[in-house]
Amino acid sequence: MSQETLGYVKLEWTCPRCGGRNPGTEKSCLSCGALQPQDVQFEQTEGAQASQDEALKAVAEAGPDIHCPFCGTRNPATATVCSQCGGDLKEGARREAGKVVGAYKTGPAKQVPCPNCGSMNPETALRCAQCGASMARQPQAPAAPAAAPIAAKPGWVTYAILAVVILCVLAGAAFMISRLTAREEFTGVVQNVAWQTSVAIQELGPVQHRDWEDQIPQEAQIGDCSDQVRSVQNSEPVGQNYNKICGTPYTVDTGSGVGKVVQDCQFEVLAPYCEYTLQEWRVVSQAVESGNNFSPVFAQPQLAGNQRLGEQNTSYVIIFQTDQGQYEYSVNSLEEFQQFQPDSRWILILNGFNQIVGLEPAR
Ligand SMILES: [Zn+2]
Ligand SMILES: [Zn+2]
Ligand SMILES: [Zn+2]
Repeated sequence: MSQETLGYVKLEWTCPRCGGRNPGTEKSCLSCGALQPQDVQFEQTEGAQASQDEALKAVAEAGPDIHCPFCGTRNPATATVCSQCGGDLKEGARREAGKVVGAYKTGPAKQVPCPNCGSMNPETALRCAQCGASMARQPQAPAAPAAAPIAAKPGWVTYAILAVVILCVLAGAAFMISRLTAREEFTGVVQNVAWQTSVAIQELGPVQHRDWEDQIPQEAQIGDCSDQVRSVQNSEPVGQNYNKICGTPYTVDTGSGVGKVVQDCQFEVLAPYCEYTLQEWRVVSQAVESGNNFSPVFAQPQLAGNQRLGEQNTSYVIIFQTDQGQYEYSVNSLEEFQQFQPDSRWILILNGFNQIVGLEPAR
């Protein structure tokens, strides 16, 4: 995130002794003269407008004020001796800085009634223009409590269900293993053999794609393009189109009585994203042949001018007859296939799922 400064606002503090409201830049209460204690925080004045005023900026940028270690008086960041008692400020405590005092609200200041005489004053006023009484702080809308997800504690029912599920999974796994490792042997006779070949027919034609303009192959035909977000970065992009996305402005306590109004921004870098067309080979059909001998052949289809042959595949299946019925077995090579002459006898090794897992010639 890049942080942007929108301006500076005077903060305020409330006197703990008399309740009077005071501008942030005042070190002592305008109503009763009490010093601002170190633990009394600055607050945002509702409706106060951010300004580019150089004097305010200088106060804010000087850094947090220092409280005198001897008399407690607030002194500006640049002071070395206390304006009140002349004490050395080297050991003084700096005010906290960097805390967010609230979201910054723009717009015209609301009018609120004086608690003493009832005359209307802007909400930014600390004192009534009519009678001089301290204006009460407007009650802050309580922050909506974050909806805390109510994490239900797993009860015994949950554990019981979990236990049953685990038992079922274990039982299932044990069953599978016993079936896969079970072995049974039968004698079978080769009743038939079958092969099937296929050859893909490919066709050259236009295929639609989409990509960033600078990723598109040169030979492509480019169609419609539109700017889309390609990346998000914290610094302002140079020489590229971008969207600037900023969060809600907020006010930060600088420890000086002047708040800094800032917002966090990011930059969405835009780039043209385009449709394009390429001429590509695609499979449009398969030419299939089959037979029941040991001489598989491939189909030789008639090709159009924009067609060619693609990948070839062959499958070999042997069908055995046993006392328990028929069994099928697949092999991968012609060499293996050719061993299974019709009427030859074999010992079939089966697993618990009645699948052939091994074969031996029978004597
Ligand atoms: Zn006071
Ligand atoms: Zn002092
Ligand atoms: Zn009044």
